[in-house]
Amino acid sequence: MSRALCLAAILAVAAPTVVVAQTYTTSDQTIRQIWAEGMNSSQAYKLAQVLSDSIGPRLTGTPGIKRGNDWLVATYRSWGVDARNEQYGKWKGWRRGTTHIDLMTPRVRTLEGTLLAWSAGTGGKDVTAATVILPEVADSSALVAWLSQAKGKFVLVSMPQPTCRPDDNWRQFGDSVSFARMRAMRDTATTRWNARVTATGYALGLGTGTLGKRLQEAGVAGVIASRWSNGWGVNKVFDSRTDKVPSVDLSCEDYGLVYRLTENNQGPTLRVRAESEFLGDVPVFNTIATIKGSQKPDEYVMLSAHFDSWDAGSGTTDNGTGTITMLEALRILKKIYPNPKRTIVVGHWSGEEQGLNGSRAFAADHPEIVKGLQALFNQDNGTGRIVNFSASGFTTASGNLAKWMSNIPAEIARNVNLSFPGAPAGGGSDNASFVCYGAPAFGLGATSWDYGTYTWHTNRDTFDKIVLDDLKNNATLTAMLVYLASEDPETLARDKRVFDQGPDVRRPANALGGPQSWPACTEPLRDYSQYRR
Ligand SMILES: [Zn+2]
Repeated sequence: MSRALCLAAILAVAAPTVVVAQTYTTSDQTIRQIWAEGMNSSQAYKLAQVLSDSIGPRLTGTPGIKRGNDWLVATYRSWGVDARNEQYGKWKGWRRGTTHIDLMTPRVRTLEGTLLAWSAGTGGKDVTAATVILPEVADSSALVAWLSQAKGKFVLVSMPQPTCRPDDNWRQFGDSVSFARMRAMRDTATTRWNARVTATGYALGLGTGTLGKRLQEAGVAGVIASRWSNGWGVNKVFDSRTDKVPSVDLSCEDYGLVYRLTENNQGPTLRVRAESEFLGDVPVFNTIATIKGSQKPDEYVMLSAHFDSWDAGSGTTDNGTGTITMLEALRILKKIYPNPKRTIVVGHWSGEEQGLNGSRAFAADHPEIVKGLQALFNQDNGTGRIVNFSASGFTTASGNLAKWMSNIPAEIARNVNLSFPGAPAGGGSDNASFVCYGAPAFGLGATSWDYGTYTWHTNRDTFDKIVLDDLKNNATLTAMLVYLASEDPETLARDKRVFDQGPDVRRPANALGGPQSWPACTEPLRDYSQYRR
């Protein structure tokens, strides 16, 4: 080894920065610069930490999301990017405070749980009461006859899980016969519990629903639910409609404990102290950032990710990571590609979790953008690197996607499965709000990292779940795609795939994914009063 080479080797070992290998398929200087900025000067970690830890969850209608909207605007403006909060409606204003749930008898234990979104608290005091299990009733009038027994008590409305061990744990360690027996028992219990709820004539919805509201009218102390997410320590925590008494979600383990104590007449009492505040109707906003196009200002390339979240965790992977992907991509673009050919617009949507409301409202309010949309890239399924990119049912445009992807460095592109022609999103996330108009809107699909079980809408959707290399990959890819779509000499054609495959097609009806006809647009909800489950 020559002296110089030897010195270089030592320096390379000593250098703190990890130099990522690059295998370009393109000589495009802008792509090279985007790579360098996105991979070696990333701000993704810093931005995600502020959003996730300091701002926290962003339930629509809360001070938390408004603080987040204002932070987005300030962040964009600090980079010299035009940004604004655009009101699209109003929503039930609500502030979450602290929740403390304790088992007081027959023994003391502090329980793991939290108030459901939009639930009343306990009005600044402790509420201590016995528990009662939702009974099996013949019909709604039998429920009403029973209600006097629930007065002043906490009502348990969810099925207790026979086990809080995830199935993969059973599969790994369980005797196959006992695993099968447990599953059969659980299936039967689930069916019976669902029938028990249905017989009341009310529904739990995603939380405590109309049943919770009816129990509240009967003067219960509160409603106790548990929506286990089939993994260690995870519950999905949604909303309630109890505005006078608390609705809380308990962990799988602690709900089971309270349920068994109640079922076996072992005298459980719970003490709940929960703070929350109703703030009346408040305005709700999408945050929109724009870099004006220099040659085709009336054609638009959009970056899209919903900004709102459920609020039992930090909303980190749903959809903090999508948010940071778009925010960081725009930071990169403003630095490397500040004079785009077409207008670049970022949409950080609110109200997605209650029905894509922010993006649907934006599309309805901005027909000129829908009309001039060259391409929209949406990301909303967790922290993973992008592995799926579909042409959303646009046939001619499939070729443009292929062309763009062929310009993406192999380190990023090798992970991505392209689907042509693919199928349009009928819902699920905000690209659906644009594709329903026949506008080219694409979803960037991430690898799972057990998103559905562990972070999606759960109490464990927190900063530590971010996979930073994947997040940097996604921001860099998105910046490159936006640049390529903006520079494309062609405006994307909007001709759509054929759905009429006939009844005798051998493959499953949705082998290409998605609906069997082009999805129709849906009116956004611009007011909480329109929101019913
Ligand atoms: Zn989401």
